Amino acid sequence: FDQLDGEIWYNGAYVPWSEAKLHVLTHGLHYASAVFEGERAYGGEIFKLTEHTERLHRSAEILGMEIPYSVAEIDDACRTLLKRQGLSDAYVRPIAWRGSEMMGVSAQTNRINLAIAIWQWPSYFKPEERLKGIRLDQAEYRRPDPRTAPAKSKAAGLYMICTLSKHRAEARGYADALMLDWRGQVAEATGANIFFVKDGVLHTPTPDCFLDGITRRTVIELAKKRGYEVVERAIMPEEMSGFSECFLTGTAAEVTPVSEIGPYNFKVGEISTNLVNDYMQAVQPLQSAAE
Ligand code: PMP
Repeated sequence: FDQLDGEIWYNGAYVPWSEAKLHVLTHGLHYASAVFEGERAYGGEIFKLTEHTERLHRSAEILGMEIPYSVAEIDDACRTLLKRQGLSDAYVRPIAWRGSEMMGVSAQTNRINLAIAIWQWPSYFKPEERLKGIRLDQAEYRRPDPRTAPAKSKAAGLYMICTLSKHRAEARGYADALMLDWRGQVAEATGANIFFVKDGVLHTPTPDCFLDGITRRTVIELAKKRGYEVVERAIMPEEMSGFSECFLTGTAAEVTPVSEIGPYNFKVGEISTNLVNDYMQAVQPLQSAAE
């Protein structure tokens, strides 16, 4: 991935893609002092860009890192880079990390760096699998107690258990894994939130120890617009036998129906299909009246 074409925005400069490097003694690499975002551009516009940039700032603050660029400056850099990359439908990845000035757990004065990369990333899951619903494994690892880790930060360190869970799921023939939380309640997939349907009502776990995704909130709004009831609550894994539909939401995953989680099966039903379509419409930039 380090040899793609184009440029990376790196601490304010546009650097050729293959030259956007950092030192092996970077604090972010050794001690996971890094936070990032995942955004998608549709038709030349980055969907909910400012919400993502604000979350990046918040994620960094939670880790005691002050990003030396304002939300407006980062928004601007993302928009300009998208144009310079010549892309209109693309994935946007800003990342902030503590630099290499000091080595050791404590590195209070290390520079906070920021880079932004933009590339084409058409579908997170295989398109043919998405239509049928993807299959999820049950993860071994659980989302940590918020007293154990800064659960509200989109912090690189929290993705260690996600990568482990996703690799294990893939090795066992699944597309992704469902993670429970520290109490044993249903939490989320390794990079997306989860919803279920029962008797026409949507049920989704309360996001008290994992990201309250921007896509999750968008889909809740879209569901309410259609008149669907949405219940946010604690969901126990055994309850999955009583749900008829299931889908994931995330910037990369968009709205992806799920057909199976371990022994539980779901259909790709009307509610999921409607929300897949509503989301694809919602992300398109508004056409001006003149067009
Ligand atoms: N949970 C995790 C672990 C994620 O990585 C993501 C993707 N950022 C989400 C949930 C969904 O968040 P969003 O809808 O804001 O992309």
